[in-house]
Amino acid sequence: MSFTSLGLSASLLKALADQNYLKPYPIQEKAIPAILTKKDFLGIAKTGSGKTASYVLPILNNTNSTEPHKNRHIKVLVLVPTRELAIQVDQVFSIFASALPDKVKTMAIFGGVSINPQMMAMNNVSILVATPGRLLELVESNAVHLSEIDTLVLDEADKMLNLGFKDEMDRILALLPKKRQNLLFSATLSNDVENIKNILLDNPNIVKIESKKEETELIDQIAYSVEDSRKGPLLRYLIKKNNLKQVLVFVSSAFKADAVANKLNRNGVHGVAIHGDKSMNSRTESLRRFKTGKIRVLITTDLLARGIDIEFLPYVINYELPRSPKDYVHRIGRTGRADNPGEAIAFVSPEEEHHFKVIQKKMNKEVKMIDSSEFNMQGY
Ligand code: AMP
Repeated sequence: MSFTSLGLSASLLKALADQNYLKPYPIQEKAIPAILTKKDFLGIAKTGSGKTASYVLPILNNTNSTEPHKNRHIKVLVLVPTRELAIQVDQVFSIFASALPDKVKTMAIFGGVSINPQMMAMNNVSILVATPGRLLELVESNAVHLSEIDTLVLDEADKMLNLGFKDEMDRILALLPKKRQNLLFSATLSNDVENIKNILLDNPNIVKIESKKEETELIDQIAYSVEDSRKGPLLRYLIKKNNLKQVLVFVSSAFKADAVANKLNRNGVHGVAIHGDKSMNSRTESLRRFKTGKIRVLITTDLLARGIDIEFLPYVINYELPRSPKDYVHRIGRTGRADNPGEAIAFVSPEEEHHFKVIQKKMNKEVKMIDSSEFNMQGY
C-alpha cells in the first residue's frame, strides 16, 4: 500500500515524499483514513510505531486554515505526558504544516521552563501540543482558550495516567466544547485507559498494533539480595566499581533520600536528593544538572518521579522496592530502549523478598538475583 490511497491532499503527499516516508506504517494505514472521516479513534501503539504521523497527517488534512478563528482560541489540542514528547510531536506537526498552502501555526508548551515566552508566542496558534499542568496554568492566565477546539488528541494516555495526570486531564476535559473529534493513543489498554475510552470516545474505530516485544523485555534487570544495613555500601560499591554515571535511585521517603545522598557525598560520589520538601526551583535545577551529567546520582521518591522527563536513563536503582508492581515497572521503564537497553537494579532485603516475588509474577518475568554477601565492600 502507498500513501496515495489514504485520502491525503497533494501537498501532504509531496511532504511525505520529501521526508522520505515511502510507505505507511501499519498504524498509519489504519488510522489515517479513519481519522479523516472525523470519527473518534483509539490506537493502541507504542512510540516507534509511527503513531505521531498517523494523527498529525489527517488532522492537518482536516484543518481548514482559511476559516477565521479567534486569536488565542486553539482548534486542535494534543495532550502529552512529557516535555520531550511535546517537542517531538510539535516538530512533526511543523514539518508537515509547512507543506500546506495556507499557514497553520503550531506550538509546544510544557512545564519546567519560564511561562512568559510561551504566553507571548501563543498568538494565532491553531494547533497546540501541551503537557497538562502547564496548559492549565496558561488557561488560568487567559493566554489560551479551549472553547473552540474541534479535535482533541490524548497521546501516551497510559503514561499520562501513570505519571498522575488524571486530575489535570479531567479539569481540561471539562473546559472543552462537547462536540469534537477525540483521538486516543496508548501503548497499552489498561483498565484506566479503558475507562477514558468509555468516557471520551463515541463509537470509535479501534486499531491495535502488536509490538514484537513486551516493554520489560527490553530492560536488563538484575537484583541483589542485601541486608538493609548494607544497602548504602552496596550502592557505593556498584557505582564506584562499575563507574556508573547518570544513576537514578528510588527510595521510599524524603528522609531516606537525604540520608542516601549525604552518605554518597561523604564517600566522594556526587549525589543529590530531590523530594517534596525541596523548593520547586531547587528541584528543577537539580534535574537540569542531572540531565546534563553534572550530578552523578539523583535520589528520589515516586512522588517526584513524574517530573523527571528523561526519555532514557542508563541506570535505575530500586534502593527500596515500591509497594505496587505497577510503580516498579514505571520506575524501570525509562531504561528500556531497543538499541541500547539500560540496566534496572533492585536491592532486595530479606524482608522484601516475598514482595519482589510478587512484582516478578506481575511482570511475568524472572529477575536474576545475586547474593551480595560475598562482595568485599570494605571501604565503601
Ligand atoms: P513515532 O512512533 O511517531 O515516534 O515515529 C517513529 C519514527 O518513525 C519517527 O522517527 C518517524 O519520523 C518515523 N516514521 C514514521 N512514519 C514513517 C513512515 N511511514 N516511513 C518512514 N519513517 C516513518
